[in-house]
Amino acid sequence: MSTEPETTALAEAIASAGRIALFTGAGISTESGIPDFRSPGGIWTRKTSILFQDFLDSEEARQEAWRRRFEGDAAMRAARPNRGHRAVEALVRRGRARAVVTQNIDGLHQQSGLDAAQVIELHGNTTYAACLECDTRHEMDEMRAAFEAGGRSPRCRRCLGLVKTATVSFGQPMPEAAMRRAREEAQAAELFIVLGSSLVVYPAAALPVLAVQNGARLAIVNREPTPMDEIADIVVRRPIGEAFGDAVGVN
Ligand code: NAD
Repeated sequence: MSTEPETTALAEAIASAGRIALFTGAGISTESGIPDFRSPGGIWTRKTSILFQDFLDSEEARQEAWRRRFEGDAAMRAARPNRGHRAVEALVRRGRARAVVTQNIDGLHQQSGLDAAQVIELHGNTTYAACLECDTRHEMDEMRAAFEAGGRSPRCRRCLGLVKTATVSFGQPMPEAAMRRAREEAQAAELFIVLGSSLVVYPAAALPVLAVQNGARLAIVNREPTPMDEIADIVVRRPIGEAFGDAVGVN
């Protein structure tokens, strides 16, 4: 166990809390080799995002979206859950948290051993694709083969609708059921733990505030300061794997 005081405070808060809510962002996956958006040198500093409306309106935007997705495919496929994901999985397995609420789209919480139902995905999942008309699931290999063969953005094999990675793009509606479950998690928590989020993307970033308004203690584990540090009871500015792994007692 680390003797660093904030990590010790986090360990004590975890040990004494009733129900715990876990909320993760891109920062939990950087130690698995997937870059985040807003760290110095992160994806955001290099590329602007493709808005949902542009994807709908423009073949050029769709092709650019698919090119970017396939560019990142090798890193995504090679990524394995790290100590931070394992600590999250352990808290759920031990019954200390019911689920993890995640902004991530990489599927690493599921890979760490959680059931799909225990991972509340607010921004969808980029490891597969879905038709925007009929919601039919499409696998990445099929999408890549279609894109490379035709040089055009792939279409649904069932209804010929537009297909997009199963993620929530900027300008696209949030998934209602996932948002509802996430709010329930925040409202029921005695301790709300943020792991690796800059807490600037809304509505996801409103969840810690909701938890605090409902009487939860708030702990934030993030390398850089966040706008919510001032309402947090515990702020740990150390790498998640190390700090959260120590606090939960997982290697
Ligand atoms: P963000 O990039 O805005 O913030 C990540 C935060 O994590 C940063 O403040 C950074 O300081 C911190 N961080 C990075 N590595 C860390 C580490 N090892 N230990 C401690 N802190 C660390 O991420 P966000 O708040 O999740 O918002 C970005 C949006 O981008 C999300 O909506 C998400 O859907 C998407 N995104 C997802 C992935 C993924 O699935 N892995 C990757 C990039 C972006």
